[in-house]
Amino acid sequence: SGEKKKKIGAKVELVLLGDSGVGKSCIVLRFVRGQFDPTSKVTVGASFLSQTIALQDSTTVKFEIWDTAGQERYAALAPLYYRGAAVAVVVYDITSPDSFNKAQYWVKLQKHGSPDIVMALVGNKADLHEKREVPAQYAEKNGMFFIETSAKTADNINQLFEEIAKRLPRPSP
Ligand code: GDP
Ligand code: MG
Repeated sequence: SGEKKKKIGAKVELVLLGDSGVGKSCIVLRFVRGQFDPTSKVTVGASFLSQTIALQDSTTVKFEIWDTAGQERYAALAPLYYRGAAVAVVVYDITSPDSFNKAQYWVKLQKHGSPDIVMALVGNKADLHEKREVPAQYAEKNGMFFIETSAKTADNINQLFEEIAKRLPRPSP
């Protein structure tokens, strides 16, 4: 029907969380601009970018992305970051067990978010498989949507956002 083809055009506020250096800004840059800049600077505070994707059912989703500074000292801002977010993407680095521990901490802070928030756990830097220290099975145990990505090679970056879009609650007809 025509109703089915109608574009949702939904704006979806997405917040990126996780330790400093795990690649949050690089994931956003890869997704929004298709680029990887190995000399990119550390994010201070939070920055904002948006990107619209088309889904297979011809609907669109506009992600409004808040890229946070992952430093522990900003953890006090977690309630602020979670509040109003439809999606939270918690990122760790597969070569850093410490970043995985921090990711689990950020996941727990989900309690500050909306009850129907869509959560994703992302193991980034999957290209560094020779230095892997966090087995994928560890992350799978969390029981939330999980994917491994590489902002460097672009592996699974679009898939990450497509899978999130599929999990968004649909507006009621
Ligand atoms: P953020 O602090 O979480 O925003 O991390 P950045 O996006 O600033 O990235 C931190 C460092 O990790 C930078 O030197 C990046 O070049 C590097 N990096 C980010 N993503 C990847 C990746 O997928 N693979 C590899 N090998 N390096 C990455
Ligand atoms: Mg950053």
